[in-house]
Amino acid sequence: MNGIEGMSRRSFLRLLGVGATMTALAACAPAAAPAAAPAAGAPAAAAAPAAADAGKLEIFSWWTSGGEVGALQALYDIYSREYPDVEVINAALAGGTGQGGDMKALLETRMMGGQPPESFQVHLGRELIDSHVVAGRMDPLDDLFAEAGFNDVFPKDLLSIASYEGHPWSVPVNIHRANVLWYRPSKLEAVGATEPPKDWDEFFVMADKLKEAGIPAIAIAGADGNFNGHVLETILIATMGPDDWRGLFDGSVSWEDERVTKGLEILNKLWDYTLSDYLSITWGDINDRFVGDEGPAMMIMGDWTHGVLKSMGFTDYKWAASPGTDGIFDMLSDSFGLPKGVQYRDNAVNWLKVCGSKEGQDAFNPIKGSIPARTDADLSVYDEYQLSAMDDWASNTLVPSLQHGAAAKQSFLLDYDLAVNNMLATRDVAVAQADMVTAAEEAEFGK
Ligand code: BGC
Repeated sequence: MNGIEGMSRRSFLRLLGVGATMTALAACAPAAAPAAAPAAGAPAAAAAPAAADAGKLEIFSWWTSGGEVGALQALYDIYSREYPDVEVINAALAGGTGQGGDMKALLETRMMGGQPPESFQVHLGRELIDSHVVAGRMDPLDDLFAEAGFNDVFPKDLLSIASYEGHPWSVPVNIHRANVLWYRPSKLEAVGATEPPKDWDEFFVMADKLKEAGIPAIAIAGADGNFNGHVLETILIATMGPDDWRGLFDGSVSWEDERVTKGLEILNKLWDYTLSDYLSITWGDINDRFVGDEGPAMMIMGDWTHGVLKSMGFTDYKWAASPGTDGIFDMLSDSFGLPKGVQYRDNAVNWLKVCGSKEGQDAFNPIKGSIPARTDADLSVYDEYQLSAMDDWASNTLVPSLQHGAAAKQSFLLDYDLAVNNMLATRDVAVAQADMVTAAEEAEFGK
């Protein structure tokens, strides 16, 4: 089945906050915000830089890991080749609650203080729209999209996700898949398995055998709330199915549902099949542990893990859809937008052009582990995993990622991650679910 066509496409788009508003006209666009106040000592925003001063390009991201760093550098290299006089400032900052939490906090301060960076990493869709577009802090990108031909090279569904009130607000640089099970064939072989588990029942049968053989079944970075939130998301997609997963965010399915309970129970049980010191392991550490001889057999994580493992030169791993999600593509997209009142607007717009270009995407994605957002990629530069992800992207049922900004507003994600984090300490499923029910009420899904 072709997922984009066959899925409940309208509800997918409605969930992402688009569709109904797509026909709104330019007149509905948020009014321009006042020009940014320059910081003491900073060049005045209104004064054009002198001809010789090409200025700077400051880019915020939370890309600091193997694969992420190299992929970002590939974009900077193209930019610097095209605009050699511009000083590129890589303001990457990892850590915090929710993806890029520390970076987002700093960004908020800079945006509110009228000193935005030229651009910043943000998940396409709800994350950017709810955090900064509705508040009138971004410039719409209609002219850029028309001039650079982006309307013809990005799939319609992605353009819809990028849009609010009829305008595109950020340029997607990739598509990541969140629901991937990475596994070490050599460890599965130790218990006579040649294939990874297809569903959670099969998983726990194998996990018991692995436990007997002294092999932790699953990688868990317990010191990182985001990691557990991510794993739970993939479990819930399996227990709910794609339609009702989407329903959790449009108000049509309650977070009190027993399939949410079941998902929380699976996560709670999973923690008994991991490394004994999992509570002190961060996402950065877990990749090192995964490749080690004493490491776990499997890990559920997005396909940036492919970028991380590639950057280590590690090859003893394979992939499958996470248990119970075959045929479903849990999607997210990294993107860059244009804050209002940036100091060097031309530099920022040129950065967005590089991010959306074929050359940029075909340099960035092979290293990042993701697939290009553009439809005209040079397939010869992508590896076996990425080619299989491209096939799945074209044929699977698409669902939006919660942990990675596509499904719901950031405030709900933070509450959800907090509930999961608390459960890690208390192991109390009922309390975690009650917290999520409250968070969903506060998020006013569907209203
Ligand atoms: C981002 C990826 C990133 C991952 C881990 C996700 O939210 O979309 O680009 O690699 O977090 O940092």
